[in-house]
Amino acid sequence: MSITVDGIKKRFGKFQALNNVSLDIPEGKLTALLGPSGSGKTTLLRIIAGLESADSGQISFSGRDVTGLHVRDRNIGFVFQHYALFRHMTVAQNIAFGLDSLPRKQRPAKAGIQKRVSELLEMIQLPHLAQRYPAQLSGGQKQRVALARSIATQPKILLLDEPFGALDAKVRKDLRRWLRNLHDEFHFTSIFVTHDQEEALELSDQVVVMSQGRVEQVNEPIELYARPESRFVFDFLGQVNVISGQVKQGSLNQGNAWVTVPGVQHKGDAQLYLRPHEVRLATAPVAHANLPLRIEAVSLIGSEVRVELRPEGWQSEGSNNIWEVGISHAEFNSQRPTRGDLRYAVPEVGHLFTGNDAQPATVNWAEAELAPRVRLIS
Ligand code: ATP
Repeated sequence: MSITVDGIKKRFGKFQALNNVSLDIPEGKLTALLGPSGSGKTTLLRIIAGLESADSGQISFSGRDVTGLHVRDRNIGFVFQHYALFRHMTVAQNIAFGLDSLPRKQRPAKAGIQKRVSELLEMIQLPHLAQRYPAQLSGGQKQRVALARSIATQPKILLLDEPFGALDAKVRKDLRRWLRNLHDEFHFTSIFVTHDQEEALELSDQVVVMSQGRVEQVNEPIELYARPESRFVFDFLGQVNVISGQVKQGSLNQGNAWVTVPGVQHKGDAQLYLRPHEVRLATAPVAHANLPLRIEAVSLIGSEVRVELRPEGWQSEGSNNIWEVGISHAEFNSQRPTRGDLRYAVPEVGHLFTGNDAQPATVNWAEAELAPRVRLIS
């Protein structure tokens, strides 16, 4: 079942929580609503669910207007951050709750309900805990029970509000994977709210980035990460290194630091945004950049080594005047970067913001270097 959100507005007193939000949520996909606290994610989810009413605008499910439809008639499954399991019911009773509460005509026979509960217990890999009470479960187990309960009545739509927010990092990761598999198997149309960019990028088919009651950008995770359309999205999606300066004669300059910006026509103020993996480190300036930095910290975190550096003789923007560059363990072993060493950032791909609302221009130094060679051959 697809979901269409059309021109939704919502005020709480004088505060405009949602400001003309329009969205298409494709059938059978997992969509993330991502944004900082207060951006309106939960309000939008509650309006889609029918738990909250909008001041104006329309919600449709597969083309059918459901704006005025009561929550119980929308056939939606919910999972909230705080499990909301019934404390006085066992795991099995919690899962059966939605089926037990159906009007008599729709309710399966007792044996049918038991069979469905057993299937769901298998699915969440907790059949051995069927007779336990919520207080006897871990956070991750409770959240799996909440998920089973929410899909017991086979809803076409599943709405999840920070479903893993209260869990520790390892359990979160396991449950994400598990939800992804579940989704691939059952093909609900799911929307989940999160403020964790990694979770949104890892788990979803489509990410809706929200800010101040508006939709900033909607894209598949890879596209969103590679081509953010605004500074807000860029900043929100993870660590970014910024040099701000003046573009003249094909270079962005700030004090003694400079970097060429091939293919860019703009002149005047501009900011170059670079993700940690879009920068290499060298021991001397290169032909297209002179960006000296002093190493502040080196941390071996998992599959990558993170090097934190402070600009030397120029200023970065944001992130406490620190740049972050990710290098491989092999590079670390050969270069042995150490606190206090001088290095030069070598941008490979970057994103140049000029006007306030303009989309960034992609600058690709590797391609620019290749271009003359290609012309020579032809
Ligand atoms: P978070 O990640 O912190 O949950 P969110 O993006 O989900 O944030 P919402 O819960 O949708 O944000 O809230 C959006 C704004 O609307 C917030 O500023 C919040 O204070 C306000 N708001 C939400 N519900 C109400 C309410 N019932 N009454 C008054 N203001 C509200």
